[in-house]
Amino acid sequence: MASPEARMGALVLKKTKLGEADVIVHLMAEDGSAVRAVAKGARKPKNANSATLELFNQVQVTIIPGRSLGIAKDARLMERADGLRADPARFAAASVVAEAADAAIQPDLPADRLFAMTCAAISCASDAPEDALPLLVAAYAFKQTALLGMRPSFSSCAICGERVEERGGQVRFSFADGGAVCRACAVATETASADTRAVSLSDALVRSTFADIVRIQPQSAAWDAAELAHSWLRHHLGARMRSFASFKAICGCSHVQAGV
Ligand SMILES: [Zn+2]
Repeated sequence: MASPEARMGALVLKKTKLGEADVIVHLMAEDGSAVRAVAKGARKPKNANSATLELFNQVQVTIIPGRSLGIAKDARLMERADGLRADPARFAAASVVAEAADAAIQPDLPADRLFAMTCAAISCASDAPEDALPLLVAAYAFKQTALLGMRPSFSSCAICGERVEERGGQVRFSFADGGAVCRACAVATETASADTRAVSLSDALVRSTFADIVRIQPQSAAWDAAELAHSWLRHHLGARMRSFASFKAICGCSHVQAGV
């Protein structure tokens, strides 16, 4: 890290143990870039960093440049995510958002509006009804990639722009080409079968705010949309998204396979 000592607002996305007492924190800075730093002593219960640099908290923190990783110090809590830690399903949903965010961001590469969007998703997860959590996760996945320049196409063909027609409740979907594709274009590209209701729901989600999403009625296609979003993230971020399996297991869904 060549930059001088910096004080910044940040969101805590991930923590990994380092030695006996320290933690490496993965942060999203307010400008949407990735910052990784060592929080000295953060595994000791009485250390000031241990409570402040908790997952999903928004903090103000000073990063002192180091040879590879910086050092995080003087962390001050701005927004605490206690509601998430008390509820396994909400915590698991926020973990999917955080893993997707951590996989998408890069050091020294700002991403306008990503910080605000990610904080909004995590804040809404903290008091969302459980039925809304798969919708929130799907919405974050599609909105995040849209913001980074990979906006999925749901109602018109991602290749030619023609209207996409369903057959037997399914449409052809190409992750590489950017969304649903028409029958003619599907011949020439690799596609999967996607549930029409999940595709329509995903279209609605990407156009809605998180605050609106947590208020909408339970949707039968919610988990199909979440599965579609999960496959979308795996393809576009190259992330393993292990948090998604935990999310499904903890939410105890009786979801139907989306066929993708
Ligand atoms: Zn087409």
